[in-house]
Amino acid sequence: MSRIQDPAEHRVAAQTEKVDAAALARLETAVDRRYMAGELPRLAEAGVGAGSSVTIRFQFSEYEGRPAVTGALRGTVVLACQRCLREVALTLDEQFRVIVVEQESALAHERGGYEPILAEAHRLDLHWLAEEETLLALPLVPAHEMGACPELGESPAQQEEPGEPDETPSTQRPFANLRDILQKR
Ligand SMILES: [Zn+2]
Repeated sequence: MSRIQDPAEHRVAAQTEKVDAAALARLETAVDRRYMAGELPRLAEAGVGAGSSVTIRFQFSEYEGRPAVTGALRGTVVLACQRCLREVALTLDEQFRVIVVEQESALAHERGGYEPILAEAHRLDLHWLAEEETLLALPLVPAHEMGACPELGESPAQQEEPGEPDETPSTQRPFANLRDILQKR
């Protein structure tokens, strides 16, 4: 078991990091990375604010001759609470399991519980994968915990203002279709 640690304490924001997933899988290598919000631009597009960061352990292994990655993602993301619209820092603690396939036709079905991702096995972009998995780990409806949200408990009746009955709340589920969007890319 070998470990590759990020050598630079304050490295410049890298937008790609290509690794040889096939070789890492053969050696069953674990790779640890930490990403600040600014290094994952698609998170900002999804409403993730400054002060967010995630650490991810990518554990590589082989499955049916293909490189597979079991990931452990932990971190804190700052989002807008959907009840009070103020900032709320939420803890992420997610696992993911992906397998690298090189043909689009192989994307259709899971293998051994691994979700297929299309990439060149010898040039897997860890940065892209980190961004992708963090987006999927975001809560569908970010909100303060019950009791911690200023919006709750203020007025027990929670009466809606009359007069605009047709106004539909458009910010209820900002990430509801995220998986669809990601899969259509
Ligand atoms: Zn709130």
